[in-house]
Amino acid sequence: MFKSVREAVLVQGVLRGMNLEAQCTVRAVKVSLPKSDAWEYVCVDITHAPADLPQGSYEVSFEDTMMVVDKTARGWASGTLISARLEVPLSRTELKIDYDHSMMPVSATCSACSEQMPQAPADLTTAADIIVWISGKYLEHRTVKHSNHDRRQIPRS
Ligand SMILES: [Zn+2]
Repeated sequence: MFKSVREAVLVQGVLRGMNLEAQCTVRAVKVSLPKSDAWEYVCVDITHAPADLPQGSYEVSFEDTMMVVDKTARGWASGTLISARLEVPLSRTELKIDYDHSMMPVSATCSACSEQMPQAPADLTTAADIIVWISGKYLEHRTVKHSNHDRRQIPRS
């Protein structure tokens, strides 16, 4: 079985969108991914954002992660987590994970070749377990499909 560390974190984030920029606090669970030195964030929640931000689409960046979020009448809703180091252009991201509004991962694709990762088994019921499982599949995919290339040199199709 894989070993993965989960850690609840509160980190400073920056919201950008609607021609505005604002500080916020991001509450999330940081999940280390087996067989790599990477990690992923799950259960991302925006807190302490200015209440007067208009509804609309924003990007929130925190640590080295960026996520698309929407402010709706009911509050903040998650979108696509782009698990990229911010210094790497977004066109070079690797695993893109889409979340539903309850922060459960619903699908994941390899951004290098747009291949969709398989659905996680139904017996995985927490976002952290699903992320770890999907990331494991992604690492296998990358080894099989992309291991002979520096991933930064994979041409975008
Ligand atoms: Zn791929």
